[in-house]
Amino acid sequence: MRVLGIETSCDETGIALWDSEAGLLAHRLHSQTEIHATYGGVVPELASRDHIRRTIPLVERTLADAGLDLDAVDGVTATAGPGLLGALLVGLSAGKAIAFARELPFLGIHHLEAHLLAPALEERPPEFPFLALLVSGGHTLLAEVSGVGRYRLLGQSLDDAAGEAFDKTAKLLELGFPGGPAVARAAEGGDAAAFDLPRPMVDKPNLDFSFSGLKTAVLNAAKAAGDDPDPGFRTDLCASFQEAVVDVLWRKSARALEQAGLDRLVVAGGVGANAHLRTRFAAATEELGVGLHFPRPDFCTDNGAMVAHAGGLRLVAGERDGWDRTAVARWPLDELHPPTT
Ligand code: ATP
Ligand code: MG
Ligand code: FE
Repeated sequence: MRVLGIETSCDETGIALWDSEAGLLAHRLHSQTEIHATYGGVVPELASRDHIRRTIPLVERTLADAGLDLDAVDGVTATAGPGLLGALLVGLSAGKAIAFARELPFLGIHHLEAHLLAPALEERPPEFPFLALLVSGGHTLLAEVSGVGRYRLLGQSLDDAAGEAFDKTAKLLELGFPGGPAVARAAEGGDAAAFDLPRPMVDKPNLDFSFSGLKTAVLNAAKAAGDDPDPGFRTDLCASFQEAVVDVLWRKSARALEQAGLDRLVVAGGVGANAHLRTRFAAATEELGVGLHFPRPDFCTDNGAMVAHAGGLRLVAGERDGWDRTAVARWPLDELHPPTT
């Protein structure tokens, strides 16, 4: 089955064509970074308007990349939530319109499910069950994944998401938008032990996270350094911040692996693109004999491939949505079920 996938939940228009036999055939991404950079964050109305401009041309180009046209498509899927409502509605409406006009099955997909299953697009797909650490711009959570739609939430952030902590830290250090890659770049060559930043919640026995205190600690360190800090100050502070986030993420992941008795770990979502995180997790899992799976860095952040893939798995299983399917800004992951027909 060839499935066209559409992602428009935030500030990326992502389109892909996925084949249940041959895998990913083509994918394209248009990022709105430039539009939002001036504002230091995503402006929802501008995001929706740009998705309207980009979606259909990008669908055409993606099909052309694969040397195919709509005649070759057997099903359509689009992100239905969670995310920005206006932005979601653009991709969902475009997807429904294409499916309706071509008399194809349609399915709205959960954005976080798409993130979680993205490592299966890589050469060494993870087998179920596995522990998933989802670290994105809007979410930080640990879940036991025993199959498509079988997600048991083990812990989550009680305040900021990990990606949000990167974004806010970048903003207060005036490093630019989006914050994650900016902080990672600024941290290069820095001394991660230079600042003794807190490791929020690591001593608590639960699997929840909290990142807002870390951001405050960065702010206090920046204030203490005054207006004219040493040249290496920012580099060291970014390296220390990055290390604190990664350290907390690993320690909670290790605890979850042990508690759930799992020996495979999947890391997905935008922060999973972080090079320091990838290195640190690779070394730590190897030591424990735990299998580690990441999507390629481009598929950690938002993209159409993960949507075509996750929606494709459910469409192949026979799941369909009616034309009354609408977008939802909020949609807890543990409300999902295995594919229904
Ligand atoms: P959600 O998926 O929760 O709805 P989102 O779609 O906005 O949120 P993603 O696209 O998965 O989130 O990831 C974006 C986040 O990842 C941003 O917060 C960004 O700063 C962060 N990020 C991207 N690259 C890196 C990196 N190299 N290091 C750290 N953080 C990164
Ligand atoms: Mg984005
Ligand atoms: Fe995302």
